[in-house]
Amino acid sequence: MPARTHDLPTRTRDSSSQCFPANNPGETFWQTTQHKLHDHRSTEQLPEHSDIVIVGAGYAGVSTAYHLVKDHGDVNKSIAILEARGACSGATGRNGGHARPDFYGHIPTYVDRAGARAGAEIAEFEINNLRALKKIIEQEKIDCDFTLTRSIDVWCNAEAAEKAKCVYDRMVAEGFEYMDDVVFYNGDNVEGICGVKGAKACASFTAGTMWPYKFIMHLVELIVDAGVNLQTNTPVTSVTADPEGGFIVETPRGKMHAGKVVYANNAYVSGVLPQYKKNIVPCKGICCRITVPDGVTAPLLNNSYINRTEDNVLSYLIPRADGSIVVGGAAAVFRKHEDQWYDNVDDSILIDSAKDYYNDYMQKTYSGWEDTGAKIDKIWSGVMGYSYDSNPHIGNVPGGNDQYILAGFNGHGMPVIWLSSKELAKMIIQDIPFEQTSMPRLFQTSQFRIDRALNGKTEDGDILGSGKFPATKP
Ligand SMILES: Cc1cc2nc3c(=O)[nH]c(=O)nc-3n(C[C@H](O)[C@H](O)[C@H](O)COP(=O)(O)OP(=O)(O)OC[C@H]3O[C@@H](n4cnc5c(N)ncnc54)[C@H](O)[C@@H]3O)c2cc1C
Repeated sequence: MPARTHDLPTRTRDSSSQCFPANNPGETFWQTTQHKLHDHRSTEQLPEHSDIVIVGAGYAGVSTAYHLVKDHGDVNKSIAILEARGACSGATGRNGGHARPDFYGHIPTYVDRAGARAGAEIAEFEINNLRALKKIIEQEKIDCDFTLTRSIDVWCNAEAAEKAKCVYDRMVAEGFEYMDDVVFYNGDNVEGICGVKGAKACASFTAGTMWPYKFIMHLVELIVDAGVNLQTNTPVTSVTADPEGGFIVETPRGKMHAGKVVYANNAYVSGVLPQYKKNIVPCKGICCRITVPDGVTAPLLNNSYINRTEDNVLSYLIPRADGSIVVGGAAAVFRKHEDQWYDNVDDSILIDSAKDYYNDYMQKTYSGWEDTGAKIDKIWSGVMGYSYDSNPHIGNVPGGNDQYILAGFNGHGMPVIWLSSKELAKMIIQDIPFEQTSMPRLFQTSQFRIDRALNGKTEDGDILGSGKFPATKP
């Protein structure tokens, strides 16, 4: 199908405007060759009615449709996905390709906030998610450069390294079984183990890397073949209850009727569910692909990484089989320039204060890369949905029967969305409550969480991350 344009209500966001994707996302490495279904519309017109309408064709929306079709196909529901831009053109098509359970960044925070079991549930869920991803990629024979690897967390700042060791010891002392997979190194040999210059400590554990756009577009092919009606370049501008039952879903291309609605539009969820405005805030991140000149062989990186420099700038990095590197992060560099990233949906431009950070990153960071001539081949920005308490919002929209949300992944959706969408599909079809799923309890959306963000307070009166400087990484 030819590319189409759509007419969105707003391009960038200010306090008075609504929250919708920008019209003209900048190019990324992952989408250099667009899939044949990128701008697909299954039918010329919107269907008049679908039993289930999913808003957003990113990882969350597409995998929810996949599970509805594959796990519950016998229920025979009509499903439509309405996507504001091209399929997988949001964060999923613009990210770092790192499917990495995170034991150091956020789990200890959740253990402190909600207790050991509630925190551990998330770690265990992320590990299960990675295993399930590997399984489905093999089962469906999805060509998406998936690797199951070791991820290395690196600390170059001595004080931060010491703190990390304390966190590691604390998590081991909690008796969490998953910590058996983590090895922590400090002392003289750290540089030799991780290859990062000036490393003071590092830890390794199992993670995955992949080409997310290829993964999702393969699923898109499967669900479209199975009869899901995909309508790209069709932003949902409002959803209202139909007095006769169900919902009226409005788009610039006309209205359709829905039996149930699934909001899988992540950073932009408050554009259609304004009660989430303080809960899920669109925040920009930056990512790039680095290559070496033809004929140069750079040292092989066998692991994926989270690197923290001496001045505590965090970068996530994956090596690719073609010899290139995908790396992003640098939030500490741009954090103070709020206008460039916070409450900002403009992924047509880079983050000005961070756009040069990765110019000579490999030379500065890795032993043996000094003379490789490695340089940025492609650089892009993307929009993440940062939630007030750094957990996603999943489940029934409070007060909204037959409306579901799966959004707010805090720059960390790859290790949680696959199984979350599977469980959400179960909720939708079997009409079961969140508590009867295997999702971590802290992921459940609730009026309490909505109000807490609106009031800016936690139960004990402290300001949480305020959504602005969250526990996890931009
Ligand atoms: C630069 C960057 C790097 C990242 N790196 C990593 C990483 O390495 N590892 C990791 O785990 N996570 C990473 N993330 C986060 C990860 O990409 C997300 O958590 C995940 O992709 C979220 O998937 P999603 O489907 O919820 O959102 P999206 O992929 O953003 O999908 C939402 C979709 O909804 C559509 N939409 C929005 N509003 C509407 C509307 N009103 N009507 C119709 N459609 C609408 C959007 O166009 C979009 O296609 C990164 C994100 C960015 C931006």
